[in-house]
Amino acid sequence: MSEYDPKELLRPVFPGLEEVDLAELASAAEIHSYPPHTVLCREDEFGDTFYLIVEGRACVSKYLDEENPRRILHWLEPGDFFGEIALVQGGSRTATVDTEGPITVLEIHRDALVRVLNRSAPMAIHMVLRVTSRLRDADQTAIEDLRRINAELRRAYHNLERLDQAKTDFISVVGHELRTPLTVISGYANMIRTAPAVREERNLRMFSKGIITSIDRLQAIIDSILDVSRIDVAALEVRKVPASIIVLIKEVEAHFRTTLQERSLEFQTQGLDRLPFIMADSDLLYKAFYHLIVNAIKYTPDGGRITVSGRVIRAEDGQDAIEIVVEDTGIGIDPEHHELIFEKFYQTGEVMFHSSGVTKFKGGGPGLGLAIAKGAIVAHGGQIWVDSPGHDEEALSGSRFYVRLPLTEWSEAKFFESG
Ligand code: ADP
Repeated sequence: MSEYDPKELLRPVFPGLEEVDLAELASAAEIHSYPPHTVLCREDEFGDTFYLIVEGRACVSKYLDEENPRRILHWLEPGDFFGEIALVQGGSRTATVDTEGPITVLEIHRDALVRVLNRSAPMAIHMVLRVTSRLRDADQTAIEDLRRINAELRRAYHNLERLDQAKTDFISVVGHELRTPLTVISGYANMIRTAPAVREERNLRMFSKGIITSIDRLQAIIDSILDVSRIDVAALEVRKVPASIIVLIKEVEAHFRTTLQERSLEFQTQGLDRLPFIMADSDLLYKAFYHLIVNAIKYTPDGGRITVSGRVIRAEDGQDAIEIVVEDTGIGIDPEHHELIFEKFYQTGEVMFHSSGVTKFKGGGPGLGLAIAKGAIVAHGGQIWVDSPGHDEEALSGSRFYVRLPLTEWSEAKFFESG
């Protein structure tokens, strides 16, 4: 005979329960003792037992994720019961209950508990109260967790912002510091190139040409660094004047004419002559299209095609806009990079590609072009994004870079006048 009377253990737990119901529960009850570190209920597993703690303590915990494998929700003391939710729902356990020290529990099989519960309003009410109070506790715990995690995220975000700022400052300082000596070197190199001794000597002429080409390349990289650092500090000044997209694109095409010929790349435009003038900063837009087109050149093998097309559209927000698409028949970009390539210094593929000449197939760059293009377009209130089925150097799936620029009232008036 057990030293415990189940009826007297259950009476304070379900106040108001009829004697007959109490007796039925008690007759179905069994008293069990377990050693330390016993798992009484396991989260997600099916269970058909209701437990009431008689002696000892039990820990209720939940599995969260790999980093926080176990979150302790609360401790249960003598007089507390558990396991009822899964029984009532006929489902699996919502949490794990285990012990640290020895424990003695009163156990009732599901069938007996549900039978009494079905006819006893006091027991049902008590269960509901108990479940709601647990839910409230769980809510509170979740809110505290969220607060803590939010604070941690905010701290991490501020740290990243500080690091990013330090990087931006460094880039800007390096850019400015390099520019001055480079201008001097460039001056001397040009003097050397025009010196009679050099002009007359074939090898020296070739060497000086090589020096100047490399200086130009370095100059372009430093310009990009300065451009991107200006974008970073939101110091982009947009000086809007009436601008023509077709003129800008033709200028970029003219800049690359020799390269396009050398690499047998076909350059086409479609619909650009029908685009209205827009109010825009021509220098900034030139930079944006320069980088999009130089990329199309770099990532398209010889003999490919680059198409720049434009049209007026009504955007989702109901605003009129012009949409320009720079499309190539190049190696394409995997979808996982579609957003990241617009971040500064982000490059896809092997780094070794990035050391050769600017307009060669897969030629190098510092990974700044698209960040500059995005900065320039966003500064105009526009959008830029890419669409490509993926990177495939055999199938040459190609890429399409979309640029949308809002049409102001002024440009619309001009458009409709000219149309
Ligand atoms: P980069 O100086 O490396 O060209 P960008 O910012 O201009 O830097 O481009 C970032 C990356 O996006 C490139 O390294 C390249 O992997 C990819 N990319 C950009 N344009 C294209 C394109 N037209 N086709 C394929 N890949 C491209």
